[in-house]
Amino acid sequence: MFKLDNKKVVVAVIPFLILLTAWMLAMSAFVSNSELNVVFIAIPYIFAFFAMVLSVWFQHSRVFYAVCVLLISIAVLSSPGKLNPKAFKNGVSILIPVIFIILATVEERGITSRQGLIKGLVFIGMLLFVVIDAGNVKPWFERLKPMEFILGNTGNVQGIPVISVFLFFLCLCVLLTRYFIMSSNMDMAFTGAALGCIIILHFTQFPDILSLFSSAVFLIFIIALFEASYSLAFHDTLTGLLSRRAMEQEFLRIGNRYTLAMVDVDHFKQVNDRFGHQVGDEVLRMVASCLQKYARGGKVFRYGGEEFVVIFPKKSIKETLHILERVRSGVQKRPFIIRGPNRPKKRPKGNVLPPGGSEKIRITVSIGIAEKTEKMRNRTDAEIIEMADKAVYMAKANGRNCIVY
Ligand code: GH3
Ligand code: MG
Ligand code: MG
Repeated sequence: MFKLDNKKVVVAVIPFLILLTAWMLAMSAFVSNSELNVVFIAIPYIFAFFAMVLSVWFQHSRVFYAVCVLLISIAVLSSPGKLNPKAFKNGVSILIPVIFIILATVEERGITSRQGLIKGLVFIGMLLFVVIDAGNVKPWFERLKPMEFILGNTGNVQGIPVISVFLFFLCLCVLLTRYFIMSSNMDMAFTGAALGCIIILHFTQFPDILSLFSSAVFLIFIIALFEASYSLAFHDTLTGLLSRRAMEQEFLRIGNRYTLAMVDVDHFKQVNDRFGHQVGDEVLRMVASCLQKYARGGKVFRYGGEEFVVIFPKKSIKETLHILERVRSGVQKRPFIIRGPNRPKKRPKGNVLPPGGSEKIRITVSIGIAEKTEKMRNRTDAEIIEMADKAVYMAKANGRNCIVY
């Protein structure tokens, strides 16, 4: 589900801050009065190179193909040679939103996979089509009518064709919908990149604007790639919770007063053995969502396997007991229905057990709690985890589905 927190807002506005900075630089005397030297023209290519290296490194085919297409487009736009500049610009202003939509809707499978290579070939084919058309004496794309009334089509600013305004609009709708459904920051980066492309294509005649905004677009991708890899390292992909690595980072700043709860799913191996690993994974997601819902004031991490850790900064065991009790009973009360092979396509309303060999199972958790206080400043965080782990063992010995501290 889409949830907005401070960090997400900051990450989401980064692409727009970069565009805003580029806009301010474009407006300032700094750019327009300065001679366009080699370094200034080279910057977008340097950024594009870094974005390509990073996307190959992280096997991020979506960014890789977007950067390749933009790089070729920008290189040709800035020196079209024998090509008809207007036809080429019109062609790529249709191509870019279409490619962004394809990249947003087709599943990401890496660059070197069969699907990835096919995608690459399709994009090369599309670009070639535009290049060949722009090389003709009477190019087809040249005939497209530009949109007259946006961004001041005056002087030698020709604007982009009406059809690409529509395609860019569609592209922005797809990206924003995807962002709100999947909560993926990469979609915000692509939204920023699409806006940057509109500006680039609208002002192609101005080399300074072309250079500035293409640098901005590639920088947006570089930052998004770093953010994605950071997020991958610090989040558990199955449950979406923070990972054990994130927990270790948390210990570095948490100080000497906190309570740590170790939450272990009861008889989880039996769930896997009876219903399969996939159902086991669903159970883990269900427990993770209960933890996020009920563990108020605590930070939830997937510690490993079917074990979760909740850290309550500056709280004592006493202060967290009622919260953890809510977690325990919340998991117990959440019905977990395993739908059989003959299940109906539509999920039945209410809590009734659907026909078709479905089964309702109860999941429970055992919770062990340990606390670190100012007096225990010599104790390491690993020792506190060990104490909580021992308490979990005792909870298991006490018959499970209980809390021990
Ligand atoms: P207890 O009540 O004593 O905690 O018993 P248990 O069966 O929950 O504990 P045990 O440690 O014996 O088994 C944990 C199982 O969790 C073993 C492992 O195969 C499974 N497991 C670990 N990670 C995952 C995962 O990501 N997905 C699934 N489906 N199973 C996992
Ligand atoms: Mg365990
Ligand atoms: Mg267990």
